[in-house]
Amino acid sequence: MRIYSEQQELTEVICNMCQRHLKVENSIIKEGCCSLEQRFGYFSTKDGIAEKFDLCESCYEKFINQFQIPVEQEEIKEFL
Ligand SMILES: [Zn+2]
Repeated sequence: MRIYSEQQELTEVICNMCQRHLKVENSIIKEGCCSLEQRFGYFSTKDGIAEKFDLCESCYEKFINQFQIPVEQEEIKEFL
């Protein structure tokens, strides 16, 4: 989860799974973090609902290691 100041600056990022506070400096997350926002549409039982969470890198690894099919992985050639 993310906490913002009154000026809408990112001040804290907390892993939803283990509750560890990730390192944030000047509104920038300074370590690996998986941020996911899922917006559910008409064919979902959660139609019109958006859910989001943040995972630290360690919890992200635990999460994806539960998959029956491994995640697809490729080298990032261009950073935006
Ligand atoms: Zn975690």
